[in-house]
Order: sequence, then structure tokens, then C-alpha cells
Amino acid sequence: MMSLLQRIKNKIKLKSHAGSVYHCPFCGYNSRDLEVVGHDIPVLREKQVIGGGRRAAGCYQCHSRDRERLLYAFFIEELKLPENKKISILHIAPEPKLSKVLLANNFKEYICGDLFTEGYDYPEYVQNMNVMDIPFQDHHFDYAICNHVLEHIPEDTKAMKELYRILKPGGKAVLQVPISKNNQKTHEDFTIADQNKREELFGQFDHVRIYGQDYIERLKSVGFTVHRVNISEKYKTFGLNPEEDIFFCEKPVSQ
Ligand SMILES: [Zn+2]
Repeated sequence: MMSLLQRIKNKIKLKSHAGSVYHCPFCGYNSRDLEVVGHDIPVLREKQVIGGGRRAAGCYQCHSRDRERLLYAFFIEELKLPENKKISILHIAPEPKLSKVLLANNFKEYICGDLFTEGYDYPEYVQNMNVMDIPFQDHHFDYAICNHVLEHIPEDTKAMKELYRILKPGGKAVLQVPISKNNQKTHEDFTIADQNKREELFGQFDHVRIYGQDYIERLKSVGFTVHRVNISEKYKTFGLNPEEDIFFCEKPVSQ
């Protein structure tokens, strides 16, 4: 619970940033600018890692960030998922705000899984699940959503294969990762266990790599057709990162 003083301060803050440049799709707050979020990590700057580091990207009211609003724009506005209730969705390490929107839509199936189920404020529907061993049969889901997970996993192609396996032919996945704008090749080293060293090299204490532009080749190597889409201009009021592309993967119908 916020104290009275905090509530007053918060009210003043929201009033001072109110405007008509940005609109948060999660909480409806309209603002003239975005809150500065994230940490200034040198490697993220050097490698121009998209969506990482310190940047103006947060909603002052609900604290949603650019990358979560991007997913809202894509799944809800662009793909219009809520128009088809007959779909099955698997959401790994679910982004809380997006997850609540999806949950409220009563899809045929909406399964949330995470290796770490603690820390969710709605734990009852987040199952303990390892993305390397998803407890569902082949060809089960229409959609898989798994963002900012693969950069934590040494055998990332094994996780990609698993996500591919559980999708129906024609099924689709969004698999976002931090990606370097100026590096062609992925930079990885699983032998480094030291958290400070990992942060120095990969931008976060528990990351094992920074993807380069060859990320797309890894996705293709497990069978996905990959569409790289950018909708930031179309949904400008959502305050998206103009450089963040969506890696929209499709399991081909005929294999
Ligand atoms: Zn908001």
C-alpha cells in the first residue's frame, strides 16, 4: 500500500507528465514523455543492444515498458488474437501485464509456464515448466510466446526445437531476445559463471550471450520460417522502440 505522501507525490508526477504524445494500452495513461528506466551497462551501449540499457521507455502510471507494449500492439492490435477464441496459447515466463490481458480473453487454452514460479502476483496459473522439456505433445499449440528467455539458456537451440515441436503446423511463435545492432555474430561463452563477468560481457548477471544479427539463422536452423517485422511507426503513441523488430516465427504447414 502506498502511504498518503506517496499517493500525493504520485498524483503530482502523473499530472506533470500528462500529455497527448503517448498512450499506454495497459493502463490508459496519456503522457507527454516516458519514464527513464534500465541501467547503463557499457557493453549494451557498445554493442548497441536493442531494448537494453538506460532509456526513456516506461509508463509513469503502470510502469509498463516499451517491449511489453510492443507485444500488446502485435498480439492484440495487429494479429487481433481476441477475435479467435478457439486458439491455444503457450506463454513462457509471461509478461504480467500482457498475460492478464490474454487471460481475460478466455481462449480455448492459455497455458503459462516458468522455471521460476515465485514472484508472480497471480501464481495460480503459472505452472512450473522447463522450456527445454515442455510437458505437452507435439503439434499442440497455435501460438507460443517466449520472450527474453533464450539469452539465459546455454543450449538455446534445444529450447527453440522444443518450442517448434509443441506448435501445430502453421503455428506461430514470438521469440524476442536482446540483440546487438552492430554485431553480426552472436557473442557467447557458457564457461563464465561469475556474475560480474557475465554482466560485463553480456549486460546482465544471468545472461550467457548477446545475440548478433545471426539470431535469425538459429531460428531457421530448427525449422522456423522467420518474418522480421517492425510496427513501431504504426503504433507510435504506444511509445515503442523504433529499432525493435519482432521475430515472428512460423512452423511451416508442410514439413
Ligand atoms: Zn501504463
